Amino acid sequence: MTDGIKVDSGQILELLNQKKDRMQVCLQACAACSLCAESCFMFKEKGEDPQYMPSYKMIKTLGKLYKKRGRVSRDELEQMQQLLWRNCVLCGRCYCPFGIDIPNLIAFARSILRSQGIYGVFPHTSGAPEAECRQINQAL
Ligand code: SF4
Ligand code: SF4
Repeated sequence: MTDGIKVDSGQILELLNQKKDRMQVCLQACAACSLCAESCFMFKEKGEDPQYMPSYKMIKTLGKLYKKRGRVSRDELEQMQQLLWRNCVLCGRCYCPFGIDIPNLIAFARSILRSQGIYGVFPHTSGAPEAECRQINQAL
């Protein structure tokens, strides 16, 4: 359980700063054209629910972390957990004509959440108990 564990915003900011220039270029380059959604099978599979759009997942997680300079609540991180693990399998299929590497950005956002003790659910859709997920994720 991660309830009650304080978010270390300083640590998040430190991680964000390690890739700041590259990440900011990517985040600013997004023209919200939605073309990446066409190549995401999860978006198609889930009836084109906007929460499965690659750009949505990127902007509502990493974009938010940058915008708030790491000052997010645990609730906000847990909302991101759903977008980053349940809504994406990092298959690498999403295509962006502007060259934004969304899987890479999602993987980076996952690493930031892991730094705060928030792990993915594995298998990503099954809702396995968190302790078990953590063990599996650490073993990977
Ligand atoms: S295709 Fe690229 S520019 Fe268009 S919405 Fe997706 S990430 Fe943004
Ligand atoms: S990496 Fe994630 S966002 Fe991109 S196509 Fe695969 S499931 Fe969709």
